[in-house]
Amino acid sequence: MLIIGAGIAGTVLGIALARLGVACTVVDRGVDFRPQFRGEIIQPYGTLLLERLGLLDRVQSVGCARVTRFVSAFPVLDERPCAELRLDQSTDLPPYAVTCRHHLLYGALRTGLRQASGVELLEGWRVMGLSRRADGRWGVDLLDPAGGRARISSGLVIGADGARSLLHSVADFAVRTAEASTWLLGKVSRIAGPADATFHFCAGRRWVAYLFPVGKDTRRVSIHLPSEAVPRDREAREGSFARLLDDAGRALGVQSAGGEPVEVLQAVPAPVLRAGIRCRDGLCLIGDAVGTVNPITGHGLTLACHDAVVLADAITELGAARVQEQGALAERLAGVDAYRQAVQHYSDLLVEGCFAPWSDNRYRQLAAGFGAIPRLSLLLQDAPWLEQLIQTQRRISEILAARTEALAGDSQPQRRGCLPC
Ligand SMILES: Cc1cc2nc3c(=O)[nH]c(=O)nc-3n(C[C@H](O)[C@H](O)[C@H](O)COP(=O)(O)OP(=O)(O)OC[C@H]3O[C@@H](n4cnc5c(N)ncnc54)[C@H](O)[C@@H]3O)c2cc1C
Repeated sequence: MLIIGAGIAGTVLGIALARLGVACTVVDRGVDFRPQFRGEIIQPYGTLLLERLGLLDRVQSVGCARVTRFVSAFPVLDERPCAELRLDQSTDLPPYAVTCRHHLLYGALRTGLRQASGVELLEGWRVMGLSRRADGRWGVDLLDPAGGRARISSGLVIGADGARSLLHSVADFAVRTAEASTWLLGKVSRIAGPADATFHFCAGRRWVAYLFPVGKDTRRVSIHLPSEAVPRDREAREGSFARLLDDAGRALGVQSAGGEPVEVLQAVPAPVLRAGIRCRDGLCLIGDAVGTVNPITGHGLTLACHDAVVLADAITELGAARVQEQGALAERLAGVDAYRQAVQHYSDLLVEGCFAPWSDNRYRQLAAGFGAIPRLSLLLQDAPWLEQLIQTQRRISEILAARTEALAGDSQPQRRGCLPC
């Protein structure tokens, strides 16, 4: 079996398969990771998966932080925090999220993949194309690290090659083209003193921003803007973004933390593709390769982990004899879309809940209503999308807890028979 991409989806899949005793080859064009502004929070249902895979200690050892509190504020109207979610006081969700600089998280996971038994890892190898052979297998064209051409074949190819997936275009799963409903900008700052484990969320009149620790001495501020609020002219855009970052930084208290920016993201459109895991004709897509959620929700990394462990479970359940049967994997994964898409659906509602009020003036009423409310449970009465998002997380946690039992506490893989490569 061939996995293209050793980002979070491909790495977690390779490690999960190794723990279940299934051999695979993983190819990635990159060898090491430079700092970049990308996915940096793993939601509670993702920490559950990392724990099951024996990876939680590893990511915490490279300086990832635990987040136990989510606090939101609407400083335009009222500077006081108006809602708080204590993950550590919730009984039915894992008690914390994990945050980390993207390159440190990916580096820690890649090391885990290098050490996994039964995994052949080709780093620095780029997949250039693939085509179906007469015998039904996929021929995969590769560029090796020295620039030479190579071709391998596989009966089952898994695309975990991210948002600009090559496999996505080959597979033609009729997933809608991505649309950018919001833009994202942000900065990462080094701060003095320990980061507190709080995720602060706040909203201005035309933006939504959040601050969270990414490691022990670093914080990230991200700002989302509805697409129509983004100036078309590049210069105007950059000037307004610089002012916004300052405003949001002040509202979130970053200035007082005395941090110098170590990385500033100018702005990227945040495209959204609505799809879950897709499998057909010996090709599967997982993670961003098949669908992206709006980064405002911070679920991209976690859904990629989810897809990986659920696919590993399906592959091992079907076994070598059935995994390549026409439609068998798709059938085994049929129920997954319904609950996975719920995250995307409620994420859309969250985006709408953040931005729509400005257009019809509901925001003022909404925020005024929140002003005096100290607890999230009360906030939830007025923000059903948030409650539904949390309920969705709970449901996914339950499903995953049952589906991933075989991964837990089993450092000696049980061989289930090698799948055809
Ligand atoms: C600016 C920004 C901010 C974000 N913030 C958050 C956040 O706070 N929280 C969150 O959860 N998510 C966030 N996301 C989303 C998150 O980063 C992604 O959802 C997540 O990285 C998806 O993981 P993946 O494994 O599917 O893809 P990727 O992480 O993109 O991995 C794809 C891998 O495939 C490899 N690859 C690609 N093409 C080839 C090829 N042809 N040959 C060989 N290898 C190939 C790449 O080298 C890479 O290693 C953000 C995204 C962006 C762009």
